[in-house]
Amino acid sequence: MSKFWSEAVKRCDPYVPGEQMNNPNILKLNTNENPNPPSPNVMEAINKEMERKLNLYPSPTVDQLRNEIAAYYHLAKENIFVGNGSDEVLAFSFMAFFEPGKKIRFPAISYSFYPVYAKLFNIPYEEIPLNRDFTLPVEDFFQSEGGVIFPNPNAPTSVYLGLDAIEEILQSNPNQMVIIDEAYIDFALESAVSLIATYDNLLVVQTMSKSRSLAGLRVGFALGNPNAIEALTRIKDSFNSYTLDRLAIVGAEAAMKDTDYFIATTQKIIQTREWVITEMKKRGFYVVPSKANFIFASHYTKSALGLYTALKENEVLVRHFNKPDIDNYLRITIGTDNDMKLFFQKLDDILEKAS
Ligand code: PMP
Repeated sequence: MSKFWSEAVKRCDPYVPGEQMNNPNILKLNTNENPNPPSPNVMEAINKEMERKLNLYPSPTVDQLRNEIAAYYHLAKENIFVGNGSDEVLAFSFMAFFEPGKKIRFPAISYSFYPVYAKLFNIPYEEIPLNRDFTLPVEDFFQSEGGVIFPNPNAPTSVYLGLDAIEEILQSNPNQMVIIDEAYIDFALESAVSLIATYDNLLVVQTMSKSRSLAGLRVGFALGNPNAIEALTRIKDSFNSYTLDRLAIVGAEAAMKDTDYFIATTQKIIQTREWVITEMKKRGFYVVPSKANFIFASHYTKSALGLYTALKENEVLVRHFNKPDIDNYLRITIGTDNDMKLFFQKLDDILEKAS
């Protein structure tokens, strides 16, 4: 703390990201990255761009990438905003649509960046407790004062909320923005993007970090009514006229175009996830029904913190949250089949020693 700090900085408890480790032997299942490399076309596009264009500024409007994303969803580029990871898109969304003095709502167990942004931008908030099975208590999100935000599927629980419930929330908040953070939607069922044409209070935020294997490139985007997109663009232009660099733009375009690779890799992760869930259950875990590229699991007799620590000693990193209601759960990212076989080998050793 310093006398030079602004009130905003004093209020802010920065988000603590999952551990990143230099040890190359570590099996990293803690930050929901994709275990597959990006489409080979991404590397090719980036190499070409590096050879030719790095001395030139990127496009401030990023039209080509926005067109590519729009085409995938049968929308227009006016429906698309792109930013430096969905974290930046979410931060801009808080500034564009939520305001001091009007309470927003988000789930009490949810993406821990939301309270960080809310405090930073002085937006009051209510944290809505989830149901006991971690499903969203839909009616508690009706008629909010200042707006609503939640991830779908939720993180870290992996629970998916259907479009009927989302429509009820949208209809009961006609004068407030409802932001749906779909970081993990490609491992789930239907996206709420199909509702954009009907609801001008809907903003969907997605990322290329998970299903497109591009966490290192930092590309996120929002989809919504052109008025909502214009609001985000105003915020962006006030901070930085170029939020995406040239390599990120061409890499993201190539990833967006390679639909075959995208489908093959996401389907494979879903298949591995289902196998992992079965194997976890055989080992005495309760696993929350997952629609994401991670699972949320609790052992019937062993403590999650004990398992987290033992796994870490065995060079396996998973995520444990020191938070009431979920401190006996582990969040485990789905890796390749080989990653998960190694995970089970190490887990079995630990469970055996502990029994
Ligand atoms: N939303 C949720 C729910 C997430 O879990 C994450 C990843 N930590 C993000 C947004 C941000 O993803 P990125 O900034 O990599 O797009």
